[in-house]
Amino acid sequence: MDLLLTNGRIANPGSEPSLIDYGFIAIKDGLIAAVGNEPPQGLVDCEIVDLAGKLVLPGMINAHTHLYSALALGMPWPVVPPQNFIEKLQKIWWPLDRALDEDSTRASFEAGLLECIRNGVTTVIDHHSSQNFISGSLEILAEVAGAMGMNVAAAFEITDRNGSAGFEAGLRENLEFFKRYQNHSAVRPLIGLHASFTLSDQSLATIRQAMPDVVNWGIHIHVSEDQADEVDARNRGYRSVIDRLSKFDLINENSLIIHGIHTLPEDVEILTEAGAMLVHNPTSNANNRVGILSADTINKLKGGLGTDGMQANLLKEAKEGTLIRSHSLPGGADNLDYIKLLFDHNPKIATKLFGRTLGKIQVGGAADLAIYDYSPRTELSPDNLNGHLLFGIEQPSDVICGGKYRIRDNKLLNQNEAEIKSAARIQSLKLWHKMDKT
Ligand SMILES: [Zn+2]
Repeated sequence: MDLLLTNGRIANPGSEPSLIDYGFIAIKDGLIAAVGNEPPQGLVDCEIVDLAGKLVLPGMINAHTHLYSALALGMPWPVVPPQNFIEKLQKIWWPLDRALDEDSTRASFEAGLLECIRNGVTTVIDHHSSQNFISGSLEILAEVAGAMGMNVAAAFEITDRNGSAGFEAGLRENLEFFKRYQNHSAVRPLIGLHASFTLSDQSLATIRQAMPDVVNWGIHIHVSEDQADEVDARNRGYRSVIDRLSKFDLINENSLIIHGIHTLPEDVEILTEAGAMLVHNPTSNANNRVGILSADTINKLKGGLGTDGMQANLLKEAKEGTLIRSHSLPGGADNLDYIKLLFDHNPKIATKLFGRTLGKIQVGGAADLAIYDYSPRTELSPDNLNGHLLFGIEQPSDVICGGKYRIRDNKLLNQNEAEIKSAARIQSLKLWHKMDKT
């Protein structure tokens, strides 16, 4: 053994048992070697840490985010506010992704991932866009995530909106990154497509033709985030966005379909048959005023939970998702089980994509753990664990990734947190200034 954690309250939401009191976790070679009540005896050359009743959760997974938006925190709002979803893209997010250069992209990744690990998130499925700094951008993400010991799925946003040279450069960045990282255990390349409405039929055909060279490919795409995406697909002669992607043979078992708010039962059927994965992002959808995905569709497809760049804290996303949905539910109606999305569906998505067990405290699983110094004012038991997760715990005091401490007693190890934040502040001001001129 490399590390033995003893005397912890080990929570595995959605698994049996969901809570082990006075439990231990033994870690070897980055994996969980044993977990339970009676720690193995006679261990030599092994660090033993008494958790003194701290609460241990699996390292969490963000199933969809945009680290490139990390420097948008507090960014000035357009003088004339966007009137709809498309205007939001045109006035805010597209100017931002065109203004990012190498330095601001790196600062976004560093500050964004720092925020993730501080919130106990150890695996991030990212959708990147820096349309004037394309080549080599995903390599920086892999490098920054590697330095923090985190798992990252990376994709670059391919789109027609910056002309054919931009489209080709985006596709090339995905393909080259795919070749370099297709067998990497902590980096999972995906093919990033912005959305159906910014890709022509010719572009979709070109992307599909490029795929057979790539083993295990899967697309990561925004679908039906707003009705405008569906209207566009219908105007091009398709029944829906999913119908269009399906006709170009782009949907398979590794596909990540993001949002899907206005998808129809026929679309859900296509996704089910293909074994594709759906990701729900409640705070982003509420912020963009685009509607809310039906609980029925999420349950059918075992949809995951993402933050879409809105925040790094997945427990907060789960809580806020619960509240957003509650707002329009009649009294007494069941809410969607957001804890299940976070601790059951997200691990399934990440485990499939990375080809190894992530997000579960079980033998053979990755030793990615978020440890909380949590002493609640009420009893914590398997029956009320979800209540504590949604309304009680805050930030972890310790985070372990791949069997190694990355945050210990609240201190980030091997990284200079103050320097990362200072660089991000400098880059954010430059970025905002540059956006004004695009
Ligand atoms: Zn997104």
